[in-house]
Formats: sequence, C-alpha cells, structure tokens
Amino acid sequence: MTRTRAMNLTQFSRTVCRRRRWMLQAGVLGIILGIAPAWGRAQNTAPRFEVKNYVITAELLPSQHLLSAQARVDIVPSSDVTTLAFELHSNLRVEKIVDTTGQDVAFKQDGQALNLSLINPLPAGKAASVTVTYGGMLNSTDGSPVEDIKVAYVGPEGSYLLYPGHWFPVSTNHGNRFTATMNITVPSDETVVASGRAAAPERQPGKVTYTYVFDNPSFPGTVIAGKYVVQPATAMGADIALYLKPGHEGLAAPYGDTAAKIMAFYSDVFGPLPSAHLNIVEIGDDTLGGYTAPGIVGLASRAFTNPVNYRLLAHEISHLWWRSLVSPATPDDAFLDEGLAEYSKALYVQETAGDAAFEDLMRNTAIGALTHEDVAPIAQAGQLHEFTAEYQSIVFDKGAMVFHMLRWLIGDDAFRKTLRAMVQQYAWKTIATDQFQRLAETDSKQELTFFFAQWVNSTGVPQFKRNWAVYRLPKGYQVVGKMQQDLDIFRMPVEIRVVCQGSKPVTQRIDMVGTTADFTINTRTKPLRVLIDPASRILKFDDKMKYQVMMARADQLVQQQALLDAIKQYQDVLALNSNSSLAHYRLGEIHLTLRNYNASMEEFRRALDGDLDPKWIEVWSHLQLGKIFDVTGQRDRALNEYQRALQTNDNTQGALDEANRNIQKPYKNPPRSS
Ligand SMILES: [Zn+2]
Repeated sequence: MTRTRAMNLTQFSRTVCRRRRWMLQAGVLGIILGIAPAWGRAQNTAPRFEVKNYVITAELLPSQHLLSAQARVDIVPSSDVTTLAFELHSNLRVEKIVDTTGQDVAFKQDGQALNLSLINPLPAGKAASVTVTYGGMLNSTDGSPVEDIKVAYVGPEGSYLLYPGHWFPVSTNHGNRFTATMNITVPSDETVVASGRAAAPERQPGKVTYTYVFDNPSFPGTVIAGKYVVQPATAMGADIALYLKPGHEGLAAPYGDTAAKIMAFYSDVFGPLPSAHLNIVEIGDDTLGGYTAPGIVGLASRAFTNPVNYRLLAHEISHLWWRSLVSPATPDDAFLDEGLAEYSKALYVQETAGDAAFEDLMRNTAIGALTHEDVAPIAQAGQLHEFTAEYQSIVFDKGAMVFHMLRWLIGDDAFRKTLRAMVQQYAWKTIATDQFQRLAETDSKQELTFFFAQWVNSTGVPQFKRNWAVYRLPKGYQVVGKMQQDLDIFRMPVEIRVVCQGSKPVTQRIDMVGTTADFTINTRTKPLRVLIDPASRILKFDDKMKYQVMMARADQLVQQQALLDAIKQYQDVLALNSNSSLAHYRLGEIHLTLRNYNASMEEFRRALDGDLDPKWIEVWSHLQLGKIFDVTGQRDRALNEYQRALQTNDNTQGALDEANRNIQKPYKNPPRSS
C-alpha cells in the first residue's frame, strides 16, 4: 500500500487530473512517509561548527498563522570561524541576532540560507552561542524547504512544525544531532506535543506555555499543537498516548494496541529504547503521510484508517530506533535510516502476517528497487533528491533489499546481533556504512567487503540462467546443472529449488562466486523444474520482474503527469508482452483522460482480449466503454456495456455500483479541473 502500483483504479483517474498534488495521494504515501532530515545539497563543504543544543522560546498565533520565536543556538566550532551558515524557512524573517556577549551579529537571508558574519572569530573547540529572533507567517507551501509539501504550518485547525520544515535555524549538516529545550506558547485551548520530558504547563490569561526538554543528542526539532482528545494506551504495559482530533477518538484503542505490539516486537528484536514513551499525534492532511521525531509519531488524518494501517505504523515506529536513536553519518549512508525502516516493517509483517505475506512484500520491494536501480549506487544517495521516485527506489527499496540479502548471507542470528549491536554501541550517535559493516563482520565472523562492494557501492543486479540434466540413480534421481549470471564481482549464496513429482521440493544453498556455479542435487522422485532463488532472497532480474518493473515505471510517469512518456512506456511493456490487459487498460485510461475516445475505446477492447490479469480489468473495461458511449451519445450501446459489466459480478472498487448508477442515469464527464 505504500507503492504507486497499489493505487486503485478510481484514484488513478482522479490523480491524473491533479497537477502536482500526486505526492499527497494515499497511493503514493510510501514516497513521502516519514522522511529523513532533508539533507542539504546546496552546501558542498561541511560546516565548520557543530550545533550542540537549542533553547527555543516560541509563540504560535494560529488565528493569524504566525510564528514568533527566539532561538539560542549553542555551537562548538571545529576550526576558527568568522562566518556561520544556517538554513531557515524562507517565510521566516530574522529581526536580530546577538552573540554570547550580547553584541549584534550581522546577517543576511537569501531564500533558505541564513549567513552570519562575526566581528570576533570564534576559536576552535570553544563553546559559543548565537541568539536569533525571528518570525513570520507559516500558512502555505510557498517557501517550504520540501517542494510542494507543507512541513511547517501554523493555523487554527492545528499546527505542525516538523524538523524538515526548518522552522528554527538548522545546521547545513542535517546529520548534526543536538539536544533541545522548547518553550512553546499557544492559545489556552490548545495542547503542545514535542520531544522529551514535559514540565507542567504554565497558564496565563488566554495562553498556555508548554516546556519540553530533550537532553540526548538526536533530532528533537518537531513541535505539534492543536485541540486534541488525549487517550492513553496501556496494552502490553506500553507507555503510549494518543493525541487525536475530535471525531477520531474511536481509533485510539486499535492504534494504541497495534503500536504497543510493534513497540514490543522491535524492543525484543533490536533491544529496548532508553525511553519507551511514545506520543502518536494526528496532524493535518495537507502534509507528509507520517513523520517520526524522538518519542513522537505524527500521522496525517488520512493515515488513520480502519482497519489499522499497521505497515505504515511499523515503518514510522522503527524510526524511534533508526534515526532518533542511531542515525546515518552522512547523506550517503541514508539507507541505514529509510532502508532499515522499510526492512523493519517487513520483519513485523513476517512476524504478524506470516512468511507468504513477507515474501510478497519483499517481491514488491524488489520491483520498487529495480525501477531506478541503475540511476546510482546506494552509496551515492547524497546526490539524489529526496521525495523523488529515484530516492524511494534506491534508498528505501534497494536499501531494504540490502538488509534482506545481508540476513540471508550471514543468517538470522548474526543479523539480529548486528542490529542489536547497532543500538547498543551507537545509541544517540551517528553510524557510517563502514562502521555498520564492521558490526556485521564481528557478529557473523565473516569478511563482508565483497557484499558491500556489490550491493552498496555498485549498481547492477544479476539475471540468472541455468541448464540442467537429470540422471537416474539406484534410489531416485540426480539433477546436475550449472547456473550463470553476468556480474564479475558477484558472490552470494543462491538458493536452488528442484520441484519434484508427487513429493516436496528439494532446496539447496549454493555458494556462487563469479559468473558461474555448478550444482548437484539428489531427489527421491522425478524432478520437474529447477528454480533459482524462488523466495526472492537476492535482488535480481527475471522476465516476470522485468515486466513488472516496466509497469511500475509507467505508473510513476502517470503520477508525474508525464502522460506522453507514460504512453511510450506502456507501449514498451506491450512490446515485451502484447497480451498484457493491464498495460492496455492503463493506456485506455490515459487516452480517456485526454478525451481521445477512439484510442481509449480501442485500448479497453484490447484489454478485454488480453490475459485479463488482474481479473477486475474485465468489469472495469466494460464500465469504461459504457462511459465512452454515454459521453458520445450512444445510449443503447452504453447500456449494453453496463449490462456486460454487471454480468461479471465483480464489484472491485465499486464497479457494479457505478454500472447501476449509470444505467439509471447516463454518465457525464466531470468538468475539467485546472
Ligand atoms: Zn521513513
């Protein structure tokens, strides 16, 4: 459900009409689910100082969408500095900056860049601070550090100041961990949630001030405020509070219970968190689907569903470990955050939904990884822009596959030990890929450079070929074969499964080094087929995967409004598999959006003549044909198509309901949206 290709039919048609709104569609939540700190790319040189702590005093005036704040930034220079560079939301204007001695500091704001010039150099290693007084209106996506998405907002329906919103001066090194004290004043009927220990709120006429202190270095830069119904969840001894908007109280119990189960599972597998308190907070619908800060999981209203969207919750909660507690040292190490969050979710799916659901999820993850695998190796993630399909594919999906493959290579036990060592040895710190490699090597007692060279530093995935012969033995059969692939530096254990007549398949693990490997497998009954890596333990291409990857790319192009490119891509899919009903159906939808009725009709007809996979294509193609006849004034033929839709008895996405409505009343095109 976090994938573009899981988008449902009706959403598909609507999405194409909405320019640039696509990132907010539920179907593509995965791309924007809780993100890592938005790594700065503008600054190529690392800042020559480290931010240690913030003391932020801010007032929110929701009725006017205003933020008024003062931030004391405590820093330690790593060399003598006379300039300091920060980033600040470009809607926020700085009024004044003073240094430790209270002297004015000259500054310049240019978009997000906030540059300070100091009269007296700050010496290396000596703690110093600057205090920035600033404010402004946060009410739209204008000036947002994340293009087209509101990540900092103040308003009467609820405010959210997420860390990626840069609502206070942040270091250009977004991997910089810090501590913080937040004093946040809001109207007296609002509640504030932030990271850390809360003091008793201080009330004054019409206002209330909440203070939160977070004293471990992390990313305690998120503040959420609004009118909330607060409910505790105590299942399984959990310490969880739910902050829900009025009307959503009924979801407190199921979300609290599910979160408690996820917390308990991760605590068991990764090791417990230093503090297990968690606030789950509902935020607006016009922002990210989910965002996790230390001790806080913020979910958009649309992410609260019945039944509970436990996969989304599992991804987000894992960020309490993989980012809040241990974070990537550089943007190039980002797979240790989002990739591991995706794989943590998969581990939870395996635990609760079983092996088949897990294998299904990993296959989808592999398809996601292959859609843009060739763009850059994981180790170059810092060159990619977040919130793009490429970033999702390489950092989230291929990242998750790297953990999946590492687990297969070193075994469940060593893999679990590695994750636990990461939590124990790197708590409240950053970790680089080579440090992670050393943990895995220690726990597996294996040298693993070959693994990281292949999957993290390089692009390229294997495509296996095999040939085999069968020999009769006195008792049973022997399969003798050879498998091949093209990557020279490839070295992985590969699972081979022989499917046999009338008995269980026989599976063997073969260590493959280089481009070929031989195998000999004995079976009791007659061997029928030989499968390479049937459980998708290795990221690889095969013919079916190639088709699915091309479909996924085409679907992404549709979401990006690149309709002509999408048409070309679906045609490429059809060149590979001319029988694909799905590709014809998607083409029919695009032509329908473009109101090219002849082309659209032809594609829906071809969809009906194809493989009809998935099955819903039949009912929906008839329904779409009916609509085209209605729109073009051929009511009898339209009614005929609606009847044929009804005959399928398949109400996927309410197809039959819509057919019945159109039988009652002819379908009309909705007005064109801008
Ligand atoms: Zn995430």
